[in-house]
Amino acid sequence: MLELATVGLALAWGYARLPAPLVERWFSAGVYPAVQRAVTPISNLVPFAVLDLLVLAAVAAMLTVIVRGVRAARRTHRIAPLLQAARQLVVALACGYLVFLALWGFNYRRVAMTDRLLVEREAPSSEAVVRLGLEAAARMNALHAEAHRAGWQGDEWRDEELRRAFAGVQRLLSDAPLAEPGRLKRTLFGSYFRWASVDGMVNPFGLEVLANPDLLPFERPFVAAHEWSHLAGYADEAEANFVGWLTCIRAHVPAQYSGWLYLFWQVNNEVDGEGRARLAQAMEPGPRADIDAIVARLRRGELPWLRNAGWNVYDTYLRANRVEQGVRSYGAVVTLILRARFEDGWTPVRRGAALGGSASP
Ligand SMILES: [Zn+2]
Repeated sequence: MLELATVGLALAWGYARLPAPLVERWFSAGVYPAVQRAVTPISNLVPFAVLDLLVLAAVAAMLTVIVRGVRAARRTHRIAPLLQAARQLVVALACGYLVFLALWGFNYRRVAMTDRLLVEREAPSSEAVVRLGLEAAARMNALHAEAHRAGWQGDEWRDEELRRAFAGVQRLLSDAPLAEPGRLKRTLFGSYFRWASVDGMVNPFGLEVLANPDLLPFERPFVAAHEWSHLAGYADEAEANFVGWLTCIRAHVPAQYSGWLYLFWQVNNEVDGEGRARLAQAMEPGPRADIDAIVARLRRGELPWLRNAGWNVYDTYLRANRVEQGVRSYGAVVTLILRARFEDGWTPVRRGAALGGSASP
């Protein structure tokens, strides 16, 4: 009976249409920040990925159930033990899904950034996209020498200026309690990240950040800020890119460089051949060498078939979590940046803030 209720509850929550403002108020700005501020500092204490332990334990438990079921079926010559094992696995899956939703997953259903901020209705022109790329190239050119002179220390979660910038951006976007930044951890699945060209991810069951071990120093601040945005409950990839970029360009020069480099990379993927040629022309040799180093890193590590398979799985996962654009939502950050209204210093304007009213949705 309890088993049936668990599975029923998982299905009900999975398919429920919840109003975004309700999810925002009760979960994303209510329960979730309290959970995140308790769990992430604990997982920050250990250098290894909690996810590794959880996966090993889950696989061991699953194998035990299956082996036990098969043995009993052979001994008794009956199918009942197999059905019993299948039932246990389904219930375990339902439990896992409920924990996922409670710890993180409901964030997929919160108020969208386009409803949170003042944004233009029309899609940007392709010329506007190229101009954003040209701005990114100009910033990289200007920042390159100083960024490389100052260097990248790693240990982003202890970087006071990056943390301060992250807090500032969160305050611009929401009245929710501030999220605790996570340590960039290595994982047993580091090779998978390398082969599939994944830069990083958040483990929703430990609210911790896992990073690709091959990231170049100047890539790390942006990847850290992107993953922290997920920890702040911005589950959508475009939104995490937006928050991550805003964070980087508000911090010290090496982080600013990382943020603009990310945006250049993203714009470069969105424009046509002619646009790409204009972007390439605008870039000086220093930043060009950094971009080439990233291309070389990806080429060295990736297994194209695994990369494609991995991104297909993630695409399915995103769509199952109501992200209709799937993995294409990464690139939607360019549209978001071009549509959002900014005040001086790339300060986005919240809806309602312009009217002097409460900015919470
Ligand atoms: Zn992400």
